Amino acid sequence: MKLTWQRQQIRPRHRFATSQWGVDEKETIVVQLEHEGLVGLGEAVPSALYGQTLESCEAALGAMRDGLGDDPFALEPILRRLLAEYDDQRAAIDAVDAALHDWCGKRLGIPVWKLLGLTRPRKQTTFTIGVADPDLMRVKVDEALAAGFDALKIKVGTENDHDTLSYIRSKFDGPLFLDANQAWTPSEAADQIRGLAQYRPTIIEQPLAREDWQRMTPLRELGVAPIFADESCERPADVPRLHGCVDGINIKFNKCGGLREALRMITLARALGIQVMLGCFVCSSLAIAPPLTIASLADYADLDGALLLAEDPFEGISRAGGTISLGEQPGLGVAAKVL
Ligand SMILES: [Mg+2]
Repeated sequence: MKLTWQRQQIRPRHRFATSQWGVDEKETIVVQLEHEGLVGLGEAVPSALYGQTLESCEAALGAMRDGLGDDPFALEPILRRLLAEYDDQRAAIDAVDAALHDWCGKRLGIPVWKLLGLTRPRKQTTFTIGVADPDLMRVKVDEALAAGFDALKIKVGTENDHDTLSYIRSKFDGPLFLDANQAWTPSEAADQIRGLAQYRPTIIEQPLAREDWQRMTPLRELGVAPIFADESCERPADVPRLHGCVDGINIKFNKCGGLREALRMITLARALGIQVMLGCFVCSSLAIAPPLTIASLADYADLDGALLLAEDPFEGISRAGGTISLGEQPGLGVAAKVL
């Protein structure tokens, strides 16, 4: 197998920010895995939050390149080895995992969701309103509603939370997901969450710092909304320790290392009665196709990373209102746009 990659520039339509960070423009890495004349594709979306940079990701891809063997169907042994050797570079593993699955689907002439024994992916996604000044927040909310999105995710943890949420609730009665991105201390979180009850949140995500996961238990008991872990939950081993502390987890492929690790996390979560959301970072459709492939197994999808872009370099995912879907194309079902 021949592994190559190149950087890809993407730009959100509006600056995208949380209570902790913001992005105007970014690069991801498009990975190509060529074997017997067929090319499988994957996208690496490194995140500094998890010790991943473009450089560390490319270094990991370079180190992996010569050890992949020549059987792309040997997914388990290949990925077991990569997870053992590049444990801290799971965005790179995610891209290779995606490219292997894409290659296998293309070779067999079937979509990856079919290969995995699933039904055609069709899932409501939340659309995320990033942190912005109050005027831009209102513009973003109006745009999202005009575009037909019917579940919104709001980044909270700033002084403008109540302005934004009052505005949204004056125009929108649907599911409202609130993500604090670690904004609160354990001593202030309960009051903050009680103050948000009036907006009827569907869930509240990562109220505390990632290392404070054990202190999320009393926040569940407030009864305002289910508490989900995102930054506190990276990979399969994190799921059992969170049992009892949170109601749900947000699985992202660049944190866990791709489809197969995500499936393991879902199995663990289901066994423990933990709810599942599939999430993403700002990325192109190439990095949305893998989580969308298994979205039928999740309670919620927050797969709007490519919908936030001014221009998506990939196509193949369709959207009707707030629902995104994949078709019958072989592999992951997305391809680079012909410009
Ligand atoms: Mg989050």
